[in-house]
Amino acid sequence: PNANSGAPTIFDKIISKEIPSSIVYEDESVLAFRDISPQAPVHVLVIPKLRDGLTQLGKAEKRHEEILGQLLHAAKIVAEKEGISDGFRVVINSGASACQSVYHLHLHVLGGRQMKWPPG
Ligand code: 5GP
Repeated sequence: PNANSGAPTIFDKIISKEIPSSIVYEDESVLAFRDISPQAPVHVLVIPKLRDGLTQLGKAEKRHEEILGQLLHAAKIVAEKEGISDGFRVVINSGASACQSVYHLHLHVLGGRQMKWPPG
C-alpha cells in the first residue's frame, strides 16, 4: 500500500456496498462494520464515509477535527451496541511501522475478552 496516494481502497467498495459487510452502525458520516479477520470476539472497524485525505491518522488536518470526534463517538456507540461498553479497546494503526494495511482511516473497536497491555 502507498500511504501517500489517493488510490481507492477496499473500504470504498464496502461504503458503496459493492462488497458486503456486516454493518453494526451507520450514520451520515461514519460506517462501522465487522472486521473480516477478528482479533477478539468483538472486532469492529469504524471509518469515515468520506476519506477526504484521511488515508491515516498521521495525515489529519484541522479540517478533520469534526469527523475525528464523530469517529470516536461512533466507537462508543458500537461498544454499547455490542455489549462491551464496560471494557473495550480502540486502536488506530497509522503507517507501515504500525502495521496499517488499508489506507483509509479506521478505528478498531475490540472487546469481549481480556485485553493485554502492552499490545506488542
Ligand atoms: P489495519 O491493519 O490497516 O489497521 O486494519 C485493516 C483491517 O481491515 C484488518 O483488520 C483487516 O482484517 C480488515 N479488512 C481488510 N479487508 C477487509 C474486508 O474486505 N472486509 C472487512 N470487513 N474487513 C477487512
